[in-house]
Amino acid sequence: MARDSLPEGPLRPWPVRVRILASILIVATAGLALAGGVAYFTQREGIVQRIDERLLAQVEAARVVANGISGAEVGAEPTTPAEAPATTREALRAVLASVVPGRGEGAVGLVNGKVAYIPGVPMEIHLEKSPEFIAHVAEESVDGQVRLGTSVSSALGYLRYVSVPVLVAEDPEFGVLVVAVDVRARLADLDAAFRTYTLVAVGALAVMALVGWFVAGRLLSPLRRVREAASRITAADISERIPVTGRDDVSEVARTLNDMLDRIDGSNRAQKRLLDDVRHELKTPITIVRGHLELLDPADPADVAAARDVAIDELDRMADLVDAIGSLAESASGASLRREPVDVDDLTADVFAKASVLSGHSWRLAESAGGVALLDPARITQAWLQLVDNAAKYSPAGSEVRLGSSRRDGAVEFWVEDEGDGIPPGAEERIFERFGRVDAGRGIAGSGLGLPIVKAIAEGHGGRVSLGSSSAGSRFAIVVPLPSDDVIPPDAAADGMAGSTVEGAS
Ligand code: ADP
Repeated sequence: MARDSLPEGPLRPWPVRVRILASILIVATAGLALAGGVAYFTQREGIVQRIDERLLAQVEAARVVANGISGAEVGAEPTTPAEAPATTREALRAVLASVVPGRGEGAVGLVNGKVAYIPGVPMEIHLEKSPEFIAHVAEESVDGQVRLGTSVSSALGYLRYVSVPVLVAEDPEFGVLVVAVDVRARLADLDAAFRTYTLVAVGALAVMALVGWFVAGRLLSPLRRVREAASRITAADISERIPVTGRDDVSEVARTLNDMLDRIDGSNRAQKRLLDDVRHELKTPITIVRGHLELLDPADPADVAAARDVAIDELDRMADLVDAIGSLAESASGASLRREPVDVDDLTADVFAKASVLSGHSWRLAESAGGVALLDPARITQAWLQLVDNAAKYSPAGSEVRLGSSRRDGAVEFWVEDEGDGIPPGAEERIFERFGRVDAGRGIAGSGLGLPIVKAIAEGHGGRVSLGSSSAGSRFAIVVPLPSDDVIPPDAAADGMAGSTVEGAS
């Protein structure tokens, strides 16, 4: 038969603790990377945009100067009109003289594709040192357009530049102003901040990993203890319990497992006790039969007949015992109960009718509770008749035995009262145990399983057995609790039967 089972072999290579930690770290890393990445690229975009604005401002300044207006600092309002330059070189010189390169900036003036002017102030990048860049810009600007571009070269690095053609009418020379910004230099602060962020994030992840490792270990430790304890528990020794610490849901697992172990332990003990009891009880009839057969004289017909009678008697007793054990097991499981709505008066009358045919006593139906109860009539009859049988057995011949049903505190009681010697003080609990008899039944045959069966049937109905006993007699009752819906008011169903007394004698 196919069964779902875990694959055998070594434990999975990634224990739960590692998997929990890995999940936390993956999510945390992704979160930190996303937050850092978004912040970095937004800032970077802003810086690149500001670089472009600055370059376009330079174009504006160049245009102003080339058109003959001096004092064109970037962003400043032109103040003094000046004379318009007459040649391209003059215009370019004027423009370059007005350019004040900032941090990470450089400028150069080209005439006919060659470097002709550089600003007279110190610059951080020297565009004239890269002939490839100069050639590239010169070639690009032949169409006379202002152009914003990006250049990446080994000599100058990552540049953002603007090239502005500078032309003066009637001068054939072609001038170009080039202003460039070293993007990496502008991003240096941002990069430094991001490096710090990365370091802090890695540190935070390391702390998270450390704390997570200990917290996951602590949370999982009850499970580890459960596993260790479970591996120590064997069928032979189920006494081991899992230590429970704390009140969280993982500890609740340990607590539930301990409860389950208690129940298994209890049921194991009960089974073992039953086996011991049964072995002990069967030993006596076997010894008796064996003894008789050993001493039997096969030639003596009277001896054979006597031994046969004894053997049949003992075998009958063993058969009764086996039946009683079966009945007890069935009642104790409670699963075989077939509850149905039962008219309590009918049930009482039925049991009384069966009891009253037993000889040797005067029988009296003292009370009938009325109403309807939800119970298994066959089982309750069996238990009640067992009490009737005991009352008949353990009370003097000819004495009165009363039985009846009554309602008390939301329960119905099926009871039997006799005038026997009662139960000796201190034996009240023992008689409900398996094979528990008083003074070996005071000379009366019995298995000692009658009352345990009654008790099991009562408990199967969620009830109990009550006992009141004195030297003047005993009162045994099966008490079955009644959920309020199970009972129909006695007036409606009992039909005046409650409390009436019916005599019966045999
Ligand atoms: P059994 O009757 O087979 O011995 P039970 O379990 O029915 O087993 O009863 C257990 C013991 O309880 C009996 O041996 C008897 O001593 C005592 N007992 C039961 N019912 C009565 C009773 N009505 N009056 C006096 N003693 C009783």
